[in-house]
Amino acid sequence: MTVTVHNPFTATVLGIPRIGPRRELKRATESYWAGRIDAAALHATGRELRTRQLTDLVAAGLDSVPVGTFSYYDQMLDTAVMVGALPPRVTGIADPLDRYFAAARGTDTVEPLEMTKWFDTNYHYLVPEIGPDTAFTLHADKLLDELREARDLGVPARPVVIGPLTFLKLSKGLDGIAPLDRLTDLLPLYRDLLGLLAAAGADWVQIDEPALVTDLTDAELALMRRTYADLAGLSQRPAILVATYFGRPGAALPALADMGVEGIALDFVSGNSGDARHSGNPGDAQHSGNPGDAQGSGTTVADVAAVPALADKLVVAGVVDGRNIWRTDLDRALASLGTLLGSAGALAVSTSSSLLHVPYSLEGETELDPALRSWLAFGEEKIAEVRLLATALHEGTDAIAGELSTARAALASRSADPRLRDEAVRARLAALGDDAARRSPAEERRALQRERLRLPLLPTTTIGSYPQTSAIRQARAALRKGEITAAQYDERMRSEIADVVALQEKLGLDVLVHGEPERNDMVQYFAEQLDGFFATANGWVQSYGTRCVRPPILYGDVVRRAPMTVEWIGYAQSLTDKPVKGMLTGPVTILAWSFVRDDQPLADTARQVALAIRDETVDLQDAGIRIVQVDEPALRELLPLRANAKQAYLDWAVTAFRLATSGVSDATQIHTHLCYSEFGEVIGAIADLDADVTSIEAARSHMEVLDDLNAAGFHLGVGPGVYDIHSPRVPSVEEITASLRSALKAVPAERLWVNPDCGLKTRGPAEVEASLHNMVTAARAVR
Ligand code: GLN
Ligand code: ZN
Repeated sequence: MTVTVHNPFTATVLGIPRIGPRRELKRATESYWAGRIDAAALHATGRELRTRQLTDLVAAGLDSVPVGTFSYYDQMLDTAVMVGALPPRVTGIADPLDRYFAAARGTDTVEPLEMTKWFDTNYHYLVPEIGPDTAFTLHADKLLDELREARDLGVPARPVVIGPLTFLKLSKGLDGIAPLDRLTDLLPLYRDLLGLLAAAGADWVQIDEPALVTDLTDAELALMRRTYADLAGLSQRPAILVATYFGRPGAALPALADMGVEGIALDFVSGNSGDARHSGNPGDAQHSGNPGDAQGSGTTVADVAAVPALADKLVVAGVVDGRNIWRTDLDRALASLGTLLGSAGALAVSTSSSLLHVPYSLEGETELDPALRSWLAFGEEKIAEVRLLATALHEGTDAIAGELSTARAALASRSADPRLRDEAVRARLAALGDDAARRSPAEERRALQRERLRLPLLPTTTIGSYPQTSAIRQARAALRKGEITAAQYDERMRSEIADVVALQEKLGLDVLVHGEPERNDMVQYFAEQLDGFFATANGWVQSYGTRCVRPPILYGDVVRRAPMTVEWIGYAQSLTDKPVKGMLTGPVTILAWSFVRDDQPLADTARQVALAIRDETVDLQDAGIRIVQVDEPALRELLPLRANAKQAYLDWAVTAFRLATSGVSDATQIHTHLCYSEFGEVIGAIADLDADVTSIEAARSHMEVLDDLNAAGFHLGVGPGVYDIHSPRVPSVEEITASLRSALKAVPAERLWVNPDCGLKTRGPAEVEASLHNMVTAARAVR
């Protein structure tokens, strides 16, 4: 049977950001939480933002526009609401918005859902909990309302939902069930939903199934077939576009193409974030038509040609990188698109993923060096690239001749720029042998450190940051506006540091920190002081909920010109006899939370960053600092989605960390910190980091991580977080005591540290003081 592609479209994006071009939604949501505005005002802000955005997308020339990717917090949580899968502990909350935010953030009495990274991105989703008793019921009003709103504006709207496989695969099973076991019960809701969308006038629906680019078992592939055969078999439904992204669907592609869906979206850019992270073959990573590419790169035109069933489908070709900020090589993209024309029933140009992962627009970046700026494309510019490519595809390249030559000139200026290379750093790295990344055996280090630090059993500490109070933010703003001098700013930071040191002494903590008041962000702070990076003025990206980050752009060789942290940490140490931990960010995390150059392998860039951090650890040691923590919260995040690419990544990531931390003497204690749970697959690598002490998020996942560490033969110091810092709730002494006792079942007291799950910068001072007081009390009781 031949399905002709009915009503195909030509230019789209897979999803759009929602925080607002000036973070309007963040502000409104936080005002709602603080009780300053009511629900009606929050909804009005949401509506305004959507209206403006939809109108802009149509004006930019997209002929199909995603609708429903708006969210007050998270799309997985929205899906849980849609299918009636909120946990019973929040269903008693009568007000729907408060119920929603309770599931997201917890309340004094309710624990929130766990939060974890969305595939290999720095976006965090809330993990739905699916038990044997979860009673799925459809609540499609949010999606239907947004669809109606868009259609009323005359927008060619394409509703977007997270597909049932991805939803269940990313959920957490309760009471021993695997969420996918509940597919039979969930599927009827998607059937009903498709009927409702058709009745509301949607001619296409986009069903996101990024889980299809991960390694699937045969049983999971069979579930995929069942799901899409079932949905495609409905008589009343929109045309179905199944969207895959963040990699190559592999065996799932021919299987899916046989299922009678009308369209498939494919990511032609990345296997991992649109750069050369894992391929080691940067030239081929983008828009590659080369079937010989390493696994881990994007879908190739050969993948498409190999699936005859695509000849009567709409292929939505993600050739514009949805995750990185470099300008698209239009010639390359057009070459791929030209080839694809021969294998697809119809072809639409798109981004490789939702634009959730890049800033809104370059418009606000007026301070940027014009050459650097010309190398970039943010959300708006990517939408324009999609439109240009679609035009060129249908009308020929002459139709975009001017834009094409501008794009070519920008790419040429980038590759010729002398700032991309620093020969001195390259020579130093080449001269460092394998031994540079190795320390003495852990037992020898432990003996020396014990002697030097003389800490009590179950030492208490924190992860680094203390609340970023409004006084701190005001000082930073005043410095930026030139209202205070650098010396005045330094004075204010010193007084913050003195307060934080005094507070820790009062609370009786054993290993102190300086509190990181001078850091706007743990990556940006270092990026601002290293050559090879530049910062944006308004390049905000949602990290979770209302938390936004402004990733720096790493464009050239990384060079440390001078010490970056020694003055602050040395000052804190001068105020106390207790050891103050120096705080640095590790190379993997610096890369993960930056937009990284795509013209060399990520492993090479990581070594350059590692060298800069290594120099800093040595300077801290020379300034009398006895403990240095090198944070790697993003270690898990960059793990490739496909099994066969994982080891190569872990090898370079571990080497970079060890290079960064092995320049110090054995008596200097190295700590590291990891968060965002689900460490399973990187547990062996955590042991390989060889840090003397590892603090690790565990509160939300209830200490399971310790058993995993034991199973991996981990024998170093460990501080499983004893309370969750993502919510404002103050943990009781009893609760923390219970956590510690359960940790002691897995770890001997000599190796156990006591600390919160993560840094405290997003919390209020009162909560922090109360929580840490309870933590110290609990540690003393258990000692
Ligand atoms: N040292 C950092 C802090 O405390 C670590 C943050 C993190 O793990 N994300 O803020
Ligand atoms: Zn953390």
